[in-house]
Amino acid sequence: MANKLYLLIILFSAFFLSACNKSLKKLESQGPAKNIILLIGDGMGLAQVSCAYYFGDETPNFSRFKYIGLHQNQPVGNKITDSASGATAFATGYKSYNAAIGVDQDTIARETILEWAAERQKSTGLIATSSITHATPASFYAHVKDRNLHEEIASDFVKASIDFAAGGGYQFFNQRKDGKNLLTELENKGVEVDTNSIGSDLKFGNPYAYFLAPDSLHSIRGGRGDFLERATSTALDYLSKDNDGFFLMIEGSQIDWGGHRNDAKYVIDEVLDFDKAVGLALDFAQKDGNTLVIVTADHETGGMSLSAAKVFGQREYGAINPTFSTGGHSASLIPVFAYGKGAEQFLGIYQNNDLFFKMKKCFELK
Ligand code: MG
Ligand code: ZN
Repeated sequence: MANKLYLLIILFSAFFLSACNKSLKKLESQGPAKNIILLIGDGMGLAQVSCAYYFGDETPNFSRFKYIGLHQNQPVGNKITDSASGATAFATGYKSYNAAIGVDQDTIARETILEWAAERQKSTGLIATSSITHATPASFYAHVKDRNLHEEIASDFVKASIDFAAGGGYQFFNQRKDGKNLLTELENKGVEVDTNSIGSDLKFGNPYAYFLAPDSLHSIRGGRGDFLERATSTALDYLSKDNDGFFLMIEGSQIDWGGHRNDAKYVIDEVLDFDKAVGLALDFAQKDGNTLVIVTADHETGGMSLSAAKVFGQREYGAINPTFSTGGHSASLIPVFAYGKGAEQFLGIYQNNDLFFKMKKCFELK
């Protein structure tokens, strides 16, 4: 009899625990993501992420993610991707050729996740520390066959439905070969354009474009200051006023440029700056409860390695001396960090264009 009772208690406990577990799991993925914040560290592979751990003063915000995956970023026709085909894969779900902006391998324009969100009455935002017409942000709103067509990309910006933009690149709008002044055209469309500073107390329903440099913004070392944090918190304040939700892409554009120059200090400064924007996105998502945050990169740049320093020809394991194996991009798999509504979709190893389908799925989760 005692034995039977004992068995019953075990069975009941097992049932109770598994029910609890199921309801916990259900709670995590219940309902769609109202908002998605996609943060792209251009050129940010694992070595670059690791810099935040070895060269920063605080615990990196990367440590706040529980759901981590990897993506492979091979483009059409090559082994190694550039930022254009990399971002086009995220934005449209199509793998394309290097230099493609929002078009597939046959140069056919494909709908981007930003356009898809805008069609569903969500607000949209883009932030970059490069020109807003540079490959990564451009791939979310423009459809041109080559990333170098900055003036065509700027024309597509005017046609696009973008509620908040912050970055550089006004020369592609107001110093053009065709003589047009697209900043005026934007203003005629009702967009508030500012080429000096990011505003405060933004009015919902009124689009804003902040183009704060003729081309790219300064590096951190060159005096950019807290642009990325300011732009991120201003965008989140403003976009979150939309009851339909929003899609926001934030790019740490210059991690890549430090990699191209094999300049470890440049990489480290830019990664630490990017990590602050990640922190703001996570703080927002934590409070909001209906937001998905994804942090990833298009590719790794520099073949960066956190090697042991060498002292008099001897390896010194007590110190890191970052080294680089190339002045270009590399082919290594890229980490994906996810937090919030639908984050569990991003576990595993998949292709870069799967990010599009995963984001769309999270917007549509039942
Ligand atoms: Mg970029
Ligand atoms: Zn690059």
